[in-house]
Amino acid sequence: MACENATDYDYRLVDGDTGLQDAISELKRKIAERNTLLAVDCEGDSLSREGALTIITVATEEKVYIFDVLKLGQLIFSSGLGEILEDNSRKKLMFDCRQDSDALWHQFKVKLSGVFDLQLLEVIYRRENPSSGSTANTPQFSTKNKLRGGRRSRRSQRIDEVERIYGFGRCIELYLQDEKLIKIKEKGKELLKEDKEVWTKRPLTDELIQYCIVDTMAMFRLNNKMKDVNGGEQARLRVASEKYVDLYRGKTERSFDEYETNAYLPLDIIPDKGTLDFPAANTACTRCHRRFPREEFSVTQLGKGEQKCRVCKEVKRLKMYKITEKIIGNALPAKKKNMSTFLKACLTTHGFMATKLGRILTLLMMTGKASYAIHGLLYMATPRVVAMTCNLIQKTLILQSLQIPFRRL
Ligand SMILES: [Zn+2]
Repeated sequence: MACENATDYDYRLVDGDTGLQDAISELKRKIAERNTLLAVDCEGDSLSREGALTIITVATEEKVYIFDVLKLGQLIFSSGLGEILEDNSRKKLMFDCRQDSDALWHQFKVKLSGVFDLQLLEVIYRRENPSSGSTANTPQFSTKNKLRGGRRSRRSQRIDEVERIYGFGRCIELYLQDEKLIKIKEKGKELLKEDKEVWTKRPLTDELIQYCIVDTMAMFRLNNKMKDVNGGEQARLRVASEKYVDLYRGKTERSFDEYETNAYLPLDIIPDKGTLDFPAANTACTRCHRRFPREEFSVTQLGKGEQKCRVCKEVKRLKMYKITEKIIGNALPAKKKNMSTFLKACLTTHGFMATKLGRILTLLMMTGKASYAIHGLLYMATPRVVAMTCNLIQKTLILQSLQIPFRRL
């Protein structure tokens, strides 16, 4: 396979007017002759409708075309590439098309279509092969689904259906296990870490060109590895990708917060197995602003008008988890001296301040009676509240380090 060796791969860097016409004619000829599959990837600085799109790579299985958008701008798209990108019948492999699509539409009026998103294919693949994706990086709290009397619980409680999405680098590591590809990819990441604007610098370094080649080549290989998993269900991936391609692009306003951009698969993107549609959506999540069926939300939250979808709940939980972890890290070395600060922070983090119990406990801590406070937490609170809190603040760690018996639970 030609793409085994990224450095030897046939590529063409297009950064001048004359070369542009020629390259697009060549690309179109290849497409017409072979009806070939394409791989597409954009690079830039904070790529989105607001950040810069500076490179677009379009590849067939035999040749990679790297178009310099920083130099040539709109001309690239009006010269024929736009037509290819908008052609719904021209199948394009991409990996997480959301930001690319947002940038292409809002900056260049190119409405990306015909996408098969490999990030989504990987989720489908992982569902069918549960042992394939490592779970080492998932948080420690439990996300087991609770079956109530053998029946499936309400949609809002099915938190086990909230799935992680993986980055491209991780997928290459997990599924292609090609040291050379991984190295080139890591080098690119390193360069990006050193200089956030690396994709806006010219001339493009050899390493970045290699990175573009690897990105598109790896897409073909990833697709070859996974495509059979939904063999008869290409339509399902297509529907999912269509939703994905429009997820950011279709928004009137973007928030760019963690509820919009996170490592979870947004709900109702991949249709359930055997179907191609989604349940009717009529109620908006107050965080991500996407609409879902009403039963996506808990009755309590609906009552308060603070309904969050399961993904947003997980995002918030993870955020709290990280904050608490930091607090624990800071507070534990000086155990008793800082216990009051530590506990206060834990309780505040969890929103305890708002409850009656929270106020009492906080008051106790403010007055320096930390041990009363923790006993209060353990013996006065309802088991559900204690469980929730302890889940968040890693009960084992805390109880062990403070050497307090945990009788109530
Ligand atoms: Zn949401």
